[in-house]
Amino acid sequence: MSLLRQTARQLASCRRMATAGERQFASFALRHGAAGGQLAAATRGALAAASSASVMRGAVNLPGAPPLFRSLVGGQTRSVSTFAESYNKHVDERKAEGIVPKPLDAKQVAELVQLAEAPPAGEEDFIKELLSTRVPPGVDDAAYVKAGFLAAVAKGTTKSPLFTPEEAIKLLGTMQGGYNIQPLIDALDDPKLAAIAAEQLKHSLLMFDAFYDVEAKAKGGNAAAKEVMESWANAEWFLSKPDVPEKITVTVFKVTGETNTDDLSPAPDAWSRPDIPLHALAMLKNPRDGIHDCNKQIEELKTKGFPLAYVGDVVGTGSSRKSATNSILWYMGDDIPYVPNKRTGGVCIGEKIAPIFFNTMEDSGALPIEMPVGDMAMGDVIDIFPYKGKATRHGTDDVVSEFALKTEVLFDEVRAGGRIPLIVGRGLTDKSRTSLGLPPSEVFRKPTTAAPTGKGFTLAQKMVGKACGVDGVLPGTYCEPKMTTVGSQDTTGPMTRDELKDLACLGFSSDLVMQSFCHTAAYPKPVDVTTHHTLPDFIRNRGGVSLKPGDGVIHSWLNRMLLPDTVGTGGDSHTRFPIGISFPAGSGLVAFGAATGVMPLDMPESVLVRFSGTMQPGITLRDLVHAIPYQAIKEGHLTVEKAGKKNIFSGRILEIEGLEHLKCEQAFELSDASAERSAAGCTIKLDKEPIKEYITSNIVMLKWMISEGYGDRRTLERRIASMQVWLDEPELMEADKDADYSCVIDINLDEIKEPILCAPNDPDDARLLSEVMGDKIDEVFIGSCMTNIGHFRAAGKILDAHSEGQLPTRLWIAPPTKMDATQLTAEGYYSIFGKLGARMEMPGCSLCMGNQARVGDKTTVVSTSTRNFPNRLGKGANVYLASAELAAVASMLGRLPSPEEYLKYAKELDTTAADTYRYLNFNEIGEYVASSDKVEIENWPTLMAELKAAKAKA
Ligand code: SF4
Repeated sequence: MSLLRQTARQLASCRRMATAGERQFASFALRHGAAGGQLAAATRGALAAASSASVMRGAVNLPGAPPLFRSLVGGQTRSVSTFAESYNKHVDERKAEGIVPKPLDAKQVAELVQLAEAPPAGEEDFIKELLSTRVPPGVDDAAYVKAGFLAAVAKGTTKSPLFTPEEAIKLLGTMQGGYNIQPLIDALDDPKLAAIAAEQLKHSLLMFDAFYDVEAKAKGGNAAAKEVMESWANAEWFLSKPDVPEKITVTVFKVTGETNTDDLSPAPDAWSRPDIPLHALAMLKNPRDGIHDCNKQIEELKTKGFPLAYVGDVVGTGSSRKSATNSILWYMGDDIPYVPNKRTGGVCIGEKIAPIFFNTMEDSGALPIEMPVGDMAMGDVIDIFPYKGKATRHGTDDVVSEFALKTEVLFDEVRAGGRIPLIVGRGLTDKSRTSLGLPPSEVFRKPTTAAPTGKGFTLAQKMVGKACGVDGVLPGTYCEPKMTTVGSQDTTGPMTRDELKDLACLGFSSDLVMQSFCHTAAYPKPVDVTTHHTLPDFIRNRGGVSLKPGDGVIHSWLNRMLLPDTVGTGGDSHTRFPIGISFPAGSGLVAFGAATGVMPLDMPESVLVRFSGTMQPGITLRDLVHAIPYQAIKEGHLTVEKAGKKNIFSGRILEIEGLEHLKCEQAFELSDASAERSAAGCTIKLDKEPIKEYITSNIVMLKWMISEGYGDRRTLERRIASMQVWLDEPELMEADKDADYSCVIDINLDEIKEPILCAPNDPDDARLLSEVMGDKIDEVFIGSCMTNIGHFRAAGKILDAHSEGQLPTRLWIAPPTKMDATQLTAEGYYSIFGKLGARMEMPGCSLCMGNQARVGDKTTVVSTSTRNFPNRLGKGANVYLASAELAAVASMLGRLPSPEEYLKYAKELDTTAADTYRYLNFNEIGEYVASSDKVEIENWPTLMAELKAAKAKA
């Protein structure tokens, strides 16, 4: 299915699923005689009606009027001076912080709209300027009010001395998509406004199924609509923008070593991420080599008169944070006309740029370039010649570096304002050309397609192929796989919400989108509490599934909703499916995947890690996780040093074989940690049996969720049915024997005889226990998505059997989900941990995220969490990553044990392994079965028949 058809489907569902507030607006419009019929039409009618202050005042007494209306018009109308006073106070407060004011919210816009109808003398320009430039576009509530007002002015149902109908149409054309589109299409029938509306539509890309309205008008003889169709077909929206220049002069902002996304967007400041200018103040706030006052240094460099380019040795490793990109672009990008507090463009240079970060930069309209940076110093002015692939000292021929762009399509992406606008716009052009009977456009650079090799496909290539409707996708090929499952967590959720609004999304096309609250639930800031209250409805009203604060870690839930051999994405960089494959991404791309049901992907190469032999006593899955970097370092595929860093996994897909017997929970430990390898994704070859067991259990869990009131119910029901379809005929794909890999790394389990840890503070720095034994330990954390219930039983058993009194360390315990916590309580483990003085944390990410409770400054820690970047768990903390079993021993001893000491404890565990490592099989737990048995799925036979037919067709 083409991208545009997908997006058309998306908007069709958008129109069926407005938020509660939007439905109230629509119902209000209907009562006032706005265009009736379908809800979508009513919504459009509401746009026209909602802006009239007199109508709004009338509406307040109607049952069901949104609270917003009451607060706006229920009391006295504020004078503009009062509004200006309040707004200017806000401006001054932000100025004192060194930042621009926030964009206007719906309440402020509604106030302005009233004032725009009768502006007090002297305030006209102020009102006009604010309404024109300080309202977020898309389907933001504020945009809804603005679009409604402008639509009414255009139609003449509202008068304003500030805006003529012609100006109103022009301003609607700056709102990008969503609520502004229908009034523009309507204006195509107005002889006075048609030409202006056509000009605006020619440059509107987020048309979705409104395209068909324009097409129908064009076919019906509307000349303006025909002009719009021709313009789209000729890609005027693209060609009217300047091409990437031959030469770009920039001042180097050099950050030596590795910049991870936590440096750019620190976890403790996660709460401010949606407020881009405010959050940017936290960029590089921890002093480091060459950086002592980031903001001041940036301001000083800007006095040289050129834009800045971010330059680093390794840039953007770690979490997939759009916020990190936002912060760089805030300082180094360009304003977007009519879009408040967002920037695009900019140049980012790294000897190595982490793949997800690279993509996020592409999505944002920046130009990311990988090239050697050794000859660039802070403050250097350089000329970049993007087409020639070289950088010189400004105004000279002195070459400082040379490069080849990752793809020529980058030029088009930058020109279009980003990869996402390019994809959407290209689709619109294709569709218009098809409608007009024209051949495909030659305007755009072609995405690459790898030449057939005559060989087979890897497992990842087959999974992506299936999601694209072909047998396999070779590395280097651009594709758009179907996103069957999409995850969003709470520190990126508000940004994803903003991106969804920008994309004019009112309903998801991806089959299952899930939102969690694991990153902020335990110790929320006021802004987090607001998110907890507002985000669930936003997700559910678009057909997604929302968890609740306190439920636990995103992946421990999302993994239980997966379908084998399917593809997905998520805003958390640890969205690494143990069955199927996922490509985690920044919030812009995640929003795109959720909204349209597809995602752009340049298929990466694969690295095969092949295990053989037998697991030795005392060795855990976590040790195998660390065995991968350990072996890669030994073979020269990975270096710990940042300068000239080697990492064979970076940007590739890690494919794991030889551990087919693993349970899915165990497999996730391996796939989860592929994030630390900077891999683009991960597959694990598993037998059918563990997957059947997992899915049988997960069906019960999903039914239990329905019985507990989780929703969207239809989405959960559809996923249950899809799981049942797989169970009825369980099939798994396998890599072809002759598939090509960039590298094969063999690991013999017989040779791993002692635990492997990652030393402070680098998840690549894998060491044998014997190399680090004896180091004093202050705190121990057992938790994160790397753990499952078995780890807590194992730690509890070791501690119960051997510790006396309080522990010499501070022990933190955070089970991944509330179901784990309940079960561990029932089995007495909470009592064991409590007696020892352990600090019991709410199920969720806890210390792993680094934005909530923290370990002590400069302490030495053993942690089961995913990564140990500097300052992540605590300021100046030294963090070893290790198994829960080793962590428990360290918590008792207050130091890292010798391998012999450790094995003594671990071997005892082996004797009770069957009980210890019993996973949560919900189909075997009475209360879950009882609840799920009560859940009736409506139209089950029809649903199953439809899904089976769709499977057969695929
Ligand atoms: S536990 Fe850690 S790695 Fe896992 S989702 Fe939470 S913050 Fe991310």
